[in-house]
Amino acid sequence: MTNTIQPSIQPAANPAGRSFNELPLSPDLLATLQQLEYLTMTPIQAASLPIALAGHDLIAQAKTGSGKTAAFALALLTNLNPRRFAVQAMVLCPTRELAEQVTQEIRRLARFADNIKVVALCGGTPMRPQINSLEHGAHIVVGTPGRMIDHLTRGSLNLDALNTLVLDEADRMLDMGFYDDIAYVASQCPSGRQTLLFSATYPEGIARLARQFLRNPQEVKLLEQHEEGKIRQRFYEVSHEARLQAVGALLKHYRPVSTLAFCNTKQQCRDLLEVLHKQGFHALTLHGDLEQRERDQVLIQFANNSCSVLVATDLAARGLDISQLEAVINVDVTPDPEIHIHRIGRTGRADQDGWALSLCSPADKRRVVAIAQMMGSEPEWHELGSLQNNHESALPPPMVTLQILGGRKEKIRPGDVLGALTGEAGFTREQVGKITVTELSTYVAVARDIASMAVRKLSAGKVKGKAVKVRRLDE
Ligand code: ADP
Ligand code: MG
Repeated sequence: MTNTIQPSIQPAANPAGRSFNELPLSPDLLATLQQLEYLTMTPIQAASLPIALAGHDLIAQAKTGSGKTAAFALALLTNLNPRRFAVQAMVLCPTRELAEQVTQEIRRLARFADNIKVVALCGGTPMRPQINSLEHGAHIVVGTPGRMIDHLTRGSLNLDALNTLVLDEADRMLDMGFYDDIAYVASQCPSGRQTLLFSATYPEGIARLARQFLRNPQEVKLLEQHEEGKIRQRFYEVSHEARLQAVGALLKHYRPVSTLAFCNTKQQCRDLLEVLHKQGFHALTLHGDLEQRERDQVLIQFANNSCSVLVATDLAARGLDISQLEAVINVDVTPDPEIHIHRIGRTGRADQDGWALSLCSPADKRRVVAIAQMMGSEPEWHELGSLQNNHESALPPPMVTLQILGGRKEKIRPGDVLGALTGEAGFTREQVGKITVTELSTYVAVARDIASMAVRKLSAGKVKGKAVKVRRLDE
């Protein structure tokens, strides 16, 4: 059965949405949702939760940022018995970052019952602490397929009591070549389990996975829809050779605080980065060759407003959950209109407006015709010459990220860093931005004008009673 939900009946006109109270959820869980201010279901939640809570296998397709995590988290938490000390749910994710985001979201939703243990099992981090956590009893494990296999073959992970298996971002896991790994993990799960598959797109591999590992799955598909006026889309014709320079002109004219610039290839990412740096922009790139630590640092700087432009390929940008994106720039128009719509859907989220700006060479103009057809709108063409090329500085980001050596391992918490900055160092709460604690480092965004002083004061003072090493990430 396929429930295809047409954009015309999306709650665009009816922002109130439907209440979680309609669902067979425990009162505690409903109270937690209330606390988190999840007042109404997102469309994918409204479409998939009744099916998942009724115990059916499910294939759910909806774009990034549509609330898929809570859709499966509420189902697996409902299946869970906290008094049973065994792994009852597993979520497979393509990358460590996504696994960590999912772990956080499940923990937030699970706080109604204080004894639910959620353990992240990802590659790129040591095995031993993971084995210890598993020995202490875990109810839910979230992680990458490779690391799950490591634990299964060592015998540190037992799936006999598993009742829910979730494949999150299944399309991306397939892109990354995890088919066989997923197949192995699924073969180790009890056959009576419920399987929930979530994906942003529906390539052929998904159907194959579903045939092999899901039982009579129900399908829910949410077509992409963009609310009128939220995304302002403009096209600029430019010669192929001039387009990298033109990105800087767009940035100087529109002056967005954060922009995601899409390139079609890794080489194009590198070239664009070089051009932007020459023009004085704070730009970073995300590609598959980065080490995990470098990737973390790029994402942290972009998310906390200390990097104005993130240059990425479609693959590298998939699954990123970045909330405040003022602009998306397409350095080339992609040949696939669906990818284009997916790209520009990353701006204009929630109640913010966003710019979708596309550079297009004369040869690619017919791609824009295909896009306009699919979106059912007339493309708006503008002249590059109409951009105001003000020569002032190239959009310095409002914040700077400081790296403090020492993280979760040293038991540093965000409050310790905030305390050090607003206490003895004498800064105000408003001058301090997002604080992110990772295993070995802590990153704190501070207002650009106090960055150097903050480095000096933190280095001279103490965090959690200890002297720390601090540096600016942008130097
Ligand atoms: P996806 O997995 O589809 O990319 P996420 O699960 O990461 O999306 O959710 C995107 C954001 O929406 C998250 O910040 C999440 O906290 C928020 N969110 C999810 N469901 C709701 C809801 N019902 N009401 C309000 N915010 C929600
Ligand atoms: Mg997700």
